[in-house]
This record gives sequence, C-alpha cells and structure tokens, in this order.
Amino acid sequence: METTPNQALRPQGALVERCPSCAGRVFVDDLTCLRCGAELVFDPDAGRFSGASPYCIWRLDRRCNWAGQAATTGACAACAGLWVTDAAAGRPDLTATYAAAVRRTLRRLGEAYGIDPERAAPPLRFELDLSHDGHPVTIGHANGVVTLDVAEADTVQLEIQRRTLGEPYRTPVGHVRHESGHWVWAAMVEPDTGEQERFRALFGDERVDYAAALAAHYDRPDDGWWRSSFVSHYAAAHPWEDFAESVAHVLHLDDVLHTAAVGGLLDPSLTTPEAAFDDRYRCWTDLTIELNEMARAMGGDDLYPFAPPPPAVDKMRLADDALRRLGSRS
Ligand SMILES: [Zn+2]
Ligand SMILES: [Zn+2]
Ligand SMILES: [Zn+2]
Repeated sequence: METTPNQALRPQGALVERCPSCAGRVFVDDLTCLRCGAELVFDPDAGRFSGASPYCIWRLDRRCNWAGQAATTGACAACAGLWVTDAAAGRPDLTATYAAAVRRTLRRLGEAYGIDPERAAPPLRFELDLSHDGHPVTIGHANGVVTLDVAEADTVQLEIQRRTLGEPYRTPVGHVRHESGHWVWAAMVEPDTGEQERFRALFGDERVDYAAALAAHYDRPDDGWWRSSFVSHYAAAHPWEDFAESVAHVLHLDDVLHTAAVGGLLDPSLTTPEAAFDDRYRCWTDLTIELNEMARAMGGDDLYPFAPPPPAVDKMRLADDALRRLGSRS
C-alpha cells in the first residue's frame, strides 16, 4: 500500500503545501518535490506552488523557490526588496538562509494579515550584510530598512552570540520577525497619535532615551526581575524592544499554528487571525508545551523556551491587532 507523509495525521481543510504535479506534501522552502521530482515554484500571489510560474532569478544563488516578476527584471517579490552587500554576496550559503527567513516572514505577513509591505509607509526592505574583522554589523531597523548580519546563519557564530547575550532563543527567522516588528511600529504606531496612546498605555513611554535605556539594560544583571511583565529579557530594555518582541512572538505563534494546520495537526479555523487571539493563544500554549516535550524526547532544546506572563500576552494581543489593522490598510 502506498504511504504518504501525512498518513498518520488527519488533514483538515485546504492543504496549500502541495506539489502541483503529484499533489504530494511539500515544504515551504522546497525547490523540488521529493515524491515525484517536479520543480517547485511558489506563487505568492496565488498562495500556492505552481507548475507554470517563471523562476526567480535568485533561484540558484539564494535557493529561492518563489516566482520571478517581470516588473522587477525577474526577481521575486521577496528578493526584489533584498539588498545584499558584496561581503554577504561572497557567502551565498549564509545569505540563502536569511533570504529564506525573509520569504517565510513576508509570506505570513501577507497570507495571515493581508499586509503588503510595498504599500506601507515606509515600505519594508532588508539589507543583508556580513560582519567580519573590522566590519561589525549592527542588526537593526531604520526608516523601513532592516539590516541583518548573515554571519549568524553560521550555527557556531549564532551560538556564540546567543550565549554571550544570554538568550534562550536566537535564530535568523527570529531576527527577521523582531526587526519587522520595529517596522510595524514605524508604519502603524508612529504616524498616529491615537495608536501612540494605545501603545503607551501597555508598553510605556518610548520617548525615554533609547541609548541610555539599552546601556542600563546591558549593565543590569539578569536576575529574572522581568519575568512577571515581559516575554523576554530583551523586551524589558525599552518599549520599542518590547513591541518588536511582541510582534516577533505573534509571528512565531502564527507560523507554527499555520504549519500545524497544514500538516493536519490542528483545525485550520482555529489558527488564522480571523479566529480570536485568545483562542489562538490557548491553542499555541497547548501545542508548544507538547512540542517542547517532543524536542526533549530527541535530546534537543525546547522549541519555544518562553513562558509569557499575562501582561506580556496583553502586549502580544495588541501586537496582533496592530498587524491586522496594518493589513486592512494595505
Ligand atoms: Zn510531486
Ligand atoms: Zn527570489
Ligand atoms: Zn530590536
């Protein structure tokens, strides 16, 4: 009897990650179908893999599986907004990891929240740079441009940074989601006094000196004081960081719930932003407890090494709402 990867699960609803040739299960970053060998091209406008779309011109260099667009001389919608420095271009293996993290994030912003980062003010762009001797790269966001250090696609470098900064979780896709959170603040909260008031009521006043707050954060030993109010230690550094972390965690939640639904593990109606945030959050809590234990069953680290306290969940709810409303403006 023929078996399929999902045979033990119970797929419910539309399964979007399907090969256009054989309808077998494929995965977000796949270039070819493991079942039938067909070339896979993801069409972000249609939200599915298509057999007919042209390749992005960065298919080989960045292992990009999105469809190319004529308007951007053959680059896909994600690669067209990606600037790669010469140093980063010299390490296509590292750059490809970050390009995939950007595609994954843009895809969920679009599919879950209806956000078109091109139509926002400022539009969202990514600069991929590579830190090396004499050229440190500062990861951050300014005026819609997110700067990322592809050196952290190297797992040794990533682990050194993670341990140095005492973080339980640090990944390329985590960086993309966090920095995109700063962009959401710039596009949604900053231009609107009503939004600013809502933000300050929960996150505090962001007009306090950012550099001084960050210096104080790094000076203070982590004795766990933040655990009753913040999702992570870094979130406690400044209201901007708290918001960016809240957006990042909402995007973690969204992608993991979506992935679970695609794989037949969850009812899809519970996992999209049309469902109430509190219902999705309950689902997420139950799921991550079991996923953490599964990771431990393999001797690995927890998939989601966080236990957000109620005030942090309130902030995630506001971040989710900001994402939705940003999407409704697109
Ligand atoms: Zn196939
Ligand atoms: Zn591309
Ligand atoms: Zn930040």
